[in-house]
Amino acid sequence: MSKLKIAIQKSGRLSEKSLELIKECGIKIPNGGGKLISESTNFPIEILFLRDDDIAKYVEQNVADIGIVGENAYLEANQNVDIVEYLGFASCRLSLAVSKNTAYTDISFFQNKKIATSYPIILQKYLESKNVQANIEFISGSVEIAPSIGLADGICDIVSSGSTLMSNGLKEVEKVMDSQAILIASPGLADEKQAILQKLLFRIKAVLRAKENKYILLNAPNEKLDEIVRILPGMKSPTILPLVDEGWSSLHSVIQEDKFWDIIDELKKAGAESILVAPIEKMIF
Ligand code: ATP
Ligand code: MG
Repeated sequence: MSKLKIAIQKSGRLSEKSLELIKECGIKIPNGGGKLISESTNFPIEILFLRDDDIAKYVEQNVADIGIVGENAYLEANQNVDIVEYLGFASCRLSLAVSKNTAYTDISFFQNKKIATSYPIILQKYLESKNVQANIEFISGSVEIAPSIGLADGICDIVSSGSTLMSNGLKEVEKVMDSQAILIASPGLADEKQAILQKLLFRIKAVLRAKENKYILLNAPNEKLDEIVRILPGMKSPTILPLVDEGWSSLHSVIQEDKFWDIIDELKKAGAESILVAPIEKMIF
């Protein structure tokens, strides 16, 4: 039986979360101890551990069938592969930055200037869309020191909190794109592999959905239940069970985590008590 080959980053900011996602899908991976290929013992999948820059290319060339990369690396690799799913981790942005003392007004600042980056393809497209001509200086790492050593007037690099920029005396001036980890696939996978991918995708979706939602339980007097149900943006009608205490019920539902904090005060005001919020491991419809 054929196996689906998935390429993930060997070591870096995507590695841990990529493996974690695979494991949360119930797929067992033996601890490889630095091996470059690992085979699952309970799912028809093989894991290839690669540099993140190479993943899109290898998926395009069918060395791997699917892969997990940053959207930025996918766009920069400029390969003919499909985005199958957005995975919600490794969130960051690609931004232009200049020395913090530079008087910056708008993107025209970069006209005829030198910009250092590891993302020449994305940057070139962005500058073209803004009608700016600049000299792009490709460097593969430590981009943020380029302005201070006189190599460039600005940089285009990954930013998350901005602390790396700040500690290098730089300020962010334009956002080029947002990025997060994505699952990519080779177009035209054979039927058997496509079927394994669909099985994996079903599990990934259940895991991602579960991360965004929480299970909520609360107690309330029966006459308050209608109002509380109206406040809860549950996925379906909630479950209501009678408590031993006369006139009280327990209500169970599912709620999006980000919405929960908005409505917690309303719930309490409406008479909800003993509110419990618990994580959900998998969510399947
Ligand atoms: P490799 O050795 O595999 O080439 P790398 O050094 O090029 O690794 P990493 O720094 O591990 O790459 O980043 C991998 C990806 O993680 C980036 O392409 C980006 O999508 C994302 N990323 C980078 N920095 C951050 C950050 N600070 N926060 C969140 N995500 C990030
Ligand atoms: Mg890399």
